[in-house]
Amino acid sequence: MPEQTESESRKLLGRLRAAMGEATAGQARLDRIVELIASSMAAEVCSIYLFRDDETLELCATEGLNAEAVHKTRMRLGEGLVGRVAKTGRIVNTPDAPSAPGFRFMPETGEEIFSSFLGIPVRRLGEKLGVLVVQTKAERQFSEDEVYALEVVAMVLAEMTELGAFVGDGAAMSARHQQPEMFRGGIGQEGVAEGHVYLHEPRVVITNPIADDPGKETERLHAAVDRLRMSVDEMLSASETADGDHRDVLEAYRMFANSRSWMRRMEEDINRGLSAEAAVEKEQSAARARMEEVPDAYLRERLSDLDDLSNRLLRILTGQGSETGAEMPENPILIARNIGPGELLEYGRKLKGIVLEQGSVGSHAAIVARAWAIPLIINADRVTSEALNGDHVMVDGEQGLVHLRPDDTVVTAFRDKMAMQAEAQKRYVDLRDQPALTKCGKRIELTMNAGLMADLPSLESSGAEGVGLFRTELQFLIRNKVPRRGELAALYSRVMDASKGKRVVFRTLDIGSDKVLPYMKREDEPNPALGWRAIRVGLDKPGVMRMQTQALIRGAAGRPLTVMFPFIAQFDEFRAARQHVLDEIERERRLGHVLPEKVEIGAMLETPSLAFAPRQLFEMADFVSIGGNDLKQFFFAADRENERVRRRYDVLNVSFLTFLEHIIGRCATTNCRLSFCGEDAGRPIEALCFAAMGLRSLSMRPASIGPVKHILRRADLTEAKRVIDTARGSGVQSVRGDVMEWLRTID
Ligand code: PEP
Ligand code: MG
Repeated sequence: MPEQTESESRKLLGRLRAAMGEATAGQARLDRIVELIASSMAAEVCSIYLFRDDETLELCATEGLNAEAVHKTRMRLGEGLVGRVAKTGRIVNTPDAPSAPGFRFMPETGEEIFSSFLGIPVRRLGEKLGVLVVQTKAERQFSEDEVYALEVVAMVLAEMTELGAFVGDGAAMSARHQQPEMFRGGIGQEGVAEGHVYLHEPRVVITNPIADDPGKETERLHAAVDRLRMSVDEMLSASETADGDHRDVLEAYRMFANSRSWMRRMEEDINRGLSAEAAVEKEQSAARARMEEVPDAYLRERLSDLDDLSNRLLRILTGQGSETGAEMPENPILIARNIGPGELLEYGRKLKGIVLEQGSVGSHAAIVARAWAIPLIINADRVTSEALNGDHVMVDGEQGLVHLRPDDTVVTAFRDKMAMQAEAQKRYVDLRDQPALTKCGKRIELTMNAGLMADLPSLESSGAEGVGLFRTELQFLIRNKVPRRGELAALYSRVMDASKGKRVVFRTLDIGSDKVLPYMKREDEPNPALGWRAIRVGLDKPGVMRMQTQALIRGAAGRPLTVMFPFIAQFDEFRAARQHVLDEIERERRLGHVLPEKVEIGAMLETPSLAFAPRQLFEMADFVSIGGNDLKQFFFAADRENERVRRRYDVLNVSFLTFLEHIIGRCATTNCRLSFCGEDAGRPIEALCFAAMGLRSLSMRPASIGPVKHILRRADLTEAKRVIDTARGSGVQSVRGDVMEWLRTID
């Protein structure tokens, strides 16, 4: 048994490169590679299994097994030793394969005579592509060196696969990144869009994974790492004023950039025959694989820092990606693993749609997408590894589908759908200046939700009667330090200018839960949604709340001011928060600043407890606004961000409507103004039912105002209420079915 030395592994890679240079293609190329590996490793068998689809592996080339089995033998993920390697991403190295757990004998390959088995996952940056296997008749434990050499080969194979080296005659495999693909994800924001892929982190393509001059490659690596260190130092000195977590991340970057062990591993990879960029990517792949397994959130974050740093290093080495500035295509659809609101806002309103591999509906990226009224798909698994910059893509935010490189039938159907939507929107434009007056003569106030300056033009185009919810935390989230009072006052002033006298309800800072400020010390809480968030943070650490209140008073500059506190769970919280505002007004008066012409102070009802608060709360509050997104999650005990449960309970459930009736009744008897500003207010059937139950003010995203107004103008609320009451009495769980049936009769 030959010892694989560094130079031998380099020799193997050298031969591989020569084979790649031969005039063969597709299957012949793969056949040549397995033959080469088998002879170099002095093994009877070398086989390559590649994924046919997400769940199935196919034997694509073999030296030593029955040649007839090629493209016939298939196995499911997890099945047999090969399937186990593919599923777990872990190497299997055993001298006695038939006794290893999971072994499955496949007669068509004639492999029963082989004892030892070495299976290496073939993957590229965490994406599973297949398995490389070596087997021998004699019982043999492959040495660490041999395993390492084969890992390097597997990595090169992955790069070649990515480059389409095995596409061609003999159906070795179909071309990657050319077939139509469909992804199913969660709906972050409805709407449809067609455009071209714009990757947030462009894929770096490595065209030269093998190199034969380790000295030169090591030099290239050192030069690139030096440049990387310099840029990290620059980032650190530029962020002198940044505090907390932001600096921690940069310090972690610096630590990795100076890490001797990271460097040593990459140098070893180069000595074994890899090019500098392939060495970086090999270590990055290994870090990604570890990332999937580490349960500790802190360690996972550090590994993701290393991942980010590796990307930067690859861009320096290859000159690809943002180092040279990837150009934005026409009608860009942004595709990313995940993205924060700040980065998203930097791209600006050019984007036509967003597709994320992770993300959540309640995240601030989702709120930005909502403000821009562009479709957002979340949890679209694998999309970043399949999409290439510039690919044609269609995003269906109604169904949660992404069509990548769609074929003609999909294109036609999708364009028909877009045309129908445009037609419907035109109908709503005609309603813009009409009031939301029901058939029975009830006037419903329709306002919009906002959070960015960029939202304000919608006030005019949608026909909204004001801003029922201005989420002030977005201004805090998009910066990397607490904004200054003067900045905020100027912004609030511009918001009021743009609203031209229409009422704007400023909700004070609502952070915590999913909304984590980049510069805020993160507290690991077991249940963040039930934790230290919103007004709880405001009251415990009143400094920021006071500063924000001053900014609001100064921004109003003599105009009326409306302030609302999020997440009030009991009367005392409202009383204390309100007192802060009154104190600040008094302080501003003493300082000689102009005071608002009038101040309204309200509470958001987002926890069931507030519905049962003392009567005095409703008397003291100038208004109450139901934050349905949160209220619903606490009422049904169903996490608003958990895809598995968030749609499980209908807001038109009899219990929820009866609960709403109770709130409406309490506000009516205390003469407290009431509105509803959660997402459900923007859904036509829900809005109609809320109005029928007695709500007279609904706040929603601007694009919903037209459809909601359209349904309200056609409806008689007394009749709608009768339908709801009959349904409630009949024992149904949700009144939706009965209401929809009734709606069909009024068309
Ligand atoms: C709500 O909870 O309904 C709400 C409007 O607030 P947010 O979605 O910002 O939590
Ligand atoms: Mg809320």
